Amino acid sequence: MRPIIGITCTSTASSESSPRNGIGASYISAIEHAGGTPILLPLVRKNSCIADFLSIIDGLLLSGGVDVDPFLYGEEPKPAMGRIDVGKDQVEMWLINRSLEMDLPILGICRGIQMLNVATGGTLYQDVSMSSSAILQHRQKAPGSHATHTISLREGSRLLDILGQSAFQVNSFHHQAVKEPAPGVMVSAATRDGVIEGIEDTHYSFVVGVQFHPELMWQNNPPITTLFVTFVSEAKAYEQKREALSKN
Ligand code: MN
Repeated sequence: MRPIIGITCTSTASSESSPRNGIGASYISAIEHAGGTPILLPLVRKNSCIADFLSIIDGLLLSGGVDVDPFLYGEEPKPAMGRIDVGKDQVEMWLINRSLEMDLPILGICRGIQMLNVATGGTLYQDVSMSSSAILQHRQKAPGSHATHTISLREGSRLLDILGQSAFQVNSFHHQAVKEPAPGVMVSAATRDGVIEGIEDTHYSFVVGVQFHPELMWQNNPPITTLFVTFVSEAKAYEQKREALSKN
């Protein structure tokens, strides 16, 4: 069986009166192309449903979306903060904590790196302009498939191992960013203006967050394809480990 990758949904609304849960199709095709079977995790309210999700999935993909509630990292909202998604915050917080306990592979994308950092005790810039050094454009106007800024990868990081180049070009569609990395977390990538673009927690088999959007870039980009393939193969290893345990 292909490993099952749960992708967290985002609240969307066709109108005020009909809220929806959904996700950009590019996340789905990135996982499908990398050898996994994507399933969508809706924004449920019951922890028992989330526990059931965790008994099904072999990997957790934290998707992009709106801002993280600053209460979750002990700050009051600043004027530059955008919309929040309380349902997504709750589901992802629970999923991340339980997944870490289970050593279930996690890939966080854009808001996903931010949520991963907050759930493990780090903080965010509510707007990237609040970082004293941020001078680059982090909300690009170019299409998502086009890389607009360079990230430097840290020696010894999983991300450098995967992307294979110490300077790598990526897209950028964010206005929040990691401020203080969570305790025990390694900063694996940053732009030249000091904005954190990658974190990982090496205490686990695979816990990687990226600030860019690889799901918009994997086509014709072998290193980015490798990021998804590595995540899916870690999920495969998790599935096999779980199967072996259930037989004992
Ligand atoms: Mn950026």
